[in-house]
Amino acid sequence: MSWRDLMCGEPRPEQVGQTLTLAGWASRRRDHGGLVFVDLRDRTGITQLVINPERAPEAAALAGEIRNEFVLQARGELVARSSETVNERMATGSVELAVDELTIVSRSTPLPFQLDEENVDETLRLRYRWLDLRRDKLQRNLRLRAQMVGIIRRHMEAAGFLDIQTPILFKPTPEGARDFVVPSRLHKGRFFALPQSPQILKQLTMIAGFDRYYQIAICFRDEDLRADRVQELTQLDVELSFPDREELFVSMEQMFARIWRECLGIEIETPWERMTFAEADRRFGSDKPDTRFALELEDATALTRQSEFGVFAGAEAVRFLRVPRVFSRAELGTLEELAKVYGARGLAYLIRDESTGEIRSPIAKFLSDVELEGLAIAAGETLLFAAGEWAATSKILAPLRLHLGRELSLIDDDLFTFLWVTEMPMFERDEDEDRWSAVHHPFTRPTDEWRHRFADEPGAAVANAYDIIVNGNELGGGSFRIHEPDLQAQVFDLLALSAEEQRAKFGFLLDALAMGAPPHGGIALGIDRMTMVLAGEPNLRDVIAFPKNQAGLDPMSGAPTAVTATQLDELGLEVVVEDTP
Ligand code: ASP
Repeated sequence: MSWRDLMCGEPRPEQVGQTLTLAGWASRRRDHGGLVFVDLRDRTGITQLVINPERAPEAAALAGEIRNEFVLQARGELVARSSETVNERMATGSVELAVDELTIVSRSTPLPFQLDEENVDETLRLRYRWLDLRRDKLQRNLRLRAQMVGIIRRHMEAAGFLDIQTPILFKPTPEGARDFVVPSRLHKGRFFALPQSPQILKQLTMIAGFDRYYQIAICFRDEDLRADRVQELTQLDVELSFPDREELFVSMEQMFARIWRECLGIEIETPWERMTFAEADRRFGSDKPDTRFALELEDATALTRQSEFGVFAGAEAVRFLRVPRVFSRAELGTLEELAKVYGARGLAYLIRDESTGEIRSPIAKFLSDVELEGLAIAAGETLLFAAGEWAATSKILAPLRLHLGRELSLIDDDLFTFLWVTEMPMFERDEDEDRWSAVHHPFTRPTDEWRHRFADEPGAAVANAYDIIVNGNELGGGSFRIHEPDLQAQVFDLLALSAEEQRAKFGFLLDALAMGAPPHGGIALGIDRMTMVLAGEPNLRDVIAFPKNQAGLDPMSGAPTAVTATQLDELGLEVVVEDTP
């Protein structure tokens, strides 16, 4: 016996008159005085079943029992719908199945939520994820993800990259998050760490001579969850020997172009714009600028050096946004509140009135004519200022710019603007620990210019590192790596890793680098984020089949759960503090 002759989305007028068997889920039942209509659904769509008691009395008797999400099998004749009942919005909307035989294959308990219900609590959705995943949107997101991964694999294979699997039980790899650790039973008191990325391992595949590596790799990062973060993320991980940056960039651009073309039918422009980190910071205050709209940051530091307005004169940087709009007092208040969230003490502004041409601002009286002329405020414009340390002004103005971009509808939602941000800084100061830390990771190579002097001025040193940004989202990043053991040791020294720590943590890498390491470099792209952008899906968890919730728990299985006393004993562990979620 075969379960079905066609999928539910397939019947068409051409098959009218044929006897067909269909199977799927009851997604809606409607009783019309004797006639029962059921929408039978599977992943391909819906076909309407019509159960007429005169035609099929047994089926009609059973139809009364059907509830949403029952699994049914129906056999009958495909008939054309009368012209007034044709549904143009459905692919199968001009036909229906006149049922002769009906089987209830599986029943369902009452549903915790309906599939078409909006705003269902996320924990409830995750608790019953198998139901949630039956929804159109999630079906679409996961299919799109699979389609994308298929394209990625084909692209990488065609370009000569070899899929190499690396271990999940490994040793801490530094990507800046906490490690998930796994206790070893055979070696009590010892722990594996789940890889934060296969970074060192992929470098070892280059040292091992594989030349071109890729993997769709799962990475584990024990970090606090935010809307756009998960602890278990999937990456396209890539590494090349004797790398040529152009080759890597072009290959990635072609891959994205193919994904966008095949998944969305959209041609994206290549080559992508490139911008150094310094330029991105100067123009947008951000290392991941949304370049779909302008509203760039401007710099008034030099102009206001001698200002009578002390806040400006004394600040390391005075920068502003020139907004083509006159704001009301209330709007300015809202913008100021927002600026305060990002660390501003207040939000100085200058407005030139549309009609009178006068400047309205509490600070105008402190500014000289030269300053005001230099700012060249056009009628109908508002300038919004941030003053302070350079980095602080970026931190305030970048989110303000994004907010205004959205509020003032400056962003074309249909646009995908891809960008390479290059020449990233190599180190940043970790104020809490009072030492330098690597911005990317400690294996990142300085640019040739900084090769011999990064230690003299770590805060200014530039790395041969790059990110892929689309519409202000960082989709991935990578770098060229250090392949010289002495240079690697110098970087470790600068990161305040003692010789013993270097040995204990990375001895195997240093040994490998000392045995004929080719120059190498690579990139990693976030598959989850790529799917989000591709699907236009704002919720990261909705591009993942079985995600944890925002508290890092799985409401479906209840994981993480306690283990038995025996297991603890075998592992040589004792639970000292217990969390009661
Ligand atoms: N391992 C890096 C990351 O996960 C990417 C890379 O440098 O290739 O961000």
